[in-house]
Amino acid sequence: MTNLLILGGTYQARECAETLLAQGFAVTSSLAGRVTAPRLPAGEVRIGGFGGPGGMTQWLTEHRIAAVVDATHPFAERIGSAAVTACNSAGIPLLRLQRPGWQPGPDDRWHWAESLDAAARVTARLADRAFVTTGRQGLGAFAALTRTWLLIRCVDPPEAPLPPHHRVILSRGPYEVADERALLLRHNIDTLITKDSGGSLTSGKLTAARELGLPVVIVSRPQRPETPSVTSTAEAVQWVIDHVSGES
Ligand code: NAP
Repeated sequence: MTNLLILGGTYQARECAETLLAQGFAVTSSLAGRVTAPRLPAGEVRIGGFGGPGGMTQWLTEHRIAAVVDATHPFAERIGSAAVTACNSAGIPLLRLQRPGWQPGPDDRWHWAESLDAAARVTARLADRAFVTTGRQGLGAFAALTRTWLLIRCVDPPEAPLPPHHRVILSRGPYEVADERALLLRHNIDTLITKDSGGSLTSGKLTAARELGLPVVIVSRPQRPETPSVTSTAEAVQWVIDHVSGES
């Protein structure tokens, strides 16, 4: 059997694990352990950090991993860099599986921000009532917003510091456009705040904002090190077959 490691925590990572298992590979998925009750992929799962690139190199060697697919979220910067270093050190191929970013339509009013801090500054200027969907981590960037009321949606309860005027709703996607529209209307939201996560499972909020003519503050993706990259599970599976052929 050929051993593969998928760096996960995304829908695409779960889809990739399932498909590669069906192809006869021995797949281990790795999760950071951030979410209390994560959706588990098929196959073996390990949870928790590796202890940096050195720890990951050791893990790859000990588990005789033939190739790694980094299917982590586009905003998970550190693990992406660690994977490049570790795979180089272990001498095994690495592929990044990453869905394309979102694109504005012709009438959309999207304000691109380079960081959560920058997004918070634009929000302070733009919004009376904002819907914040950037995730639990990094919410501290919005803590200094004293004028704007924030509806914060995340999977697990966020930690302090939080802005003075806010409400938290805990939920996990996917989300339908009609539900997103109803939520925006129910809370009189005038601005949507999101990361450029990409994919269709959470894009309903963008469609709903478009329909309601609301501006969007969107955090652009961080730079990640250059590495072979694909956008679909089918391409990832083909890459694995090409790079570890004859070993499965
Ligand atoms: P990060 O900043 O890149 O990683 C921080 C540290 O967490 C890493 O150095 C590593 O610890 C550990 N880690 C991260 N992903 C891991 C994985 N898949 N398996 C094992 N260890 C992992 O990552 P993050 O932004 O905190 O994201 C953590 C996880 O949540 C990722 O798996 C990502 O796919 C998922 N996620 C992130 C976002 C987001 O917006 N950032 C959104 C949705 C899902 P060591 O240094 O100890 O190895």
